[in-house]
Amino acid sequence: MSGQSPIDLDARYPSQTTGNLKLNITDIVRERKIVNDALQIDCEGTLIFRTRGMEGFDKEAETSELQFQQFHFHSPSEHTLNGKRYPLEMHLVSTWKDEIVVIAFLFSEGVKNRFIQALLDGDLVEIDHELEKKVNTQHKYLYYIGSLTTPPYTEGVHWLVSARQPQLSKEQIESFREVFGWGNFRELQDKGNREVRQLIV
Ligand SMILES: [Zn+2]
Repeated sequence: MSGQSPIDLDARYPSQTTGNLKLNITDIVRERKIVNDALQIDCEGTLIFRTRGMEGFDKEAETSELQFQQFHFHSPSEHTLNGKRYPLEMHLVSTWKDEIVVIAFLFSEGVKNRFIQALLDGDLVEIDHELEKKVNTQHKYLYYIGSLTTPPYTEGVHWLVSARQPQLSKEQIESFREVFGWGNFRELQDKGNREVRQLIV
């Protein structure tokens, strides 16, 4: 089986494709819950994604409007970059018919992060704004086809792993783990001969 996630990624994949990605959150369900050992927050919103030529999507349409469903966290990160594991990984899950698109952000230790702080404080009112900003100002992703990292490990998932890592402070990492737990990551899977591309959006 070589269609699984997570995998180790190399930040220097050569091939590039131009794309389009715009997240618009209309509602965040103001409840923090734990699903599959992960902090999850359900949302309503849309993700406009340039899917022309992409497997599984409408070949005629330039873009697709996906339903943004939820975002959740893994600590430490599931994907690694050049063998490096990060303290936290966020997954934003959207769907279009049977297709699943997950946008992933790996967080590195550094300066305090407003978005994470709002999450820790349970102040979810400002989170949609911060989340939209995060996605809509990020332009480079590593794209590959993988799977869900929790049961039923469904394959054919479109992964967009941010090439840039937002930071959070050491104190925030500790607080996050204290409040939401940690160790909920799946081990690395065989990349096989899958292609990974840089996606510029
Ligand atoms: Zn996840």
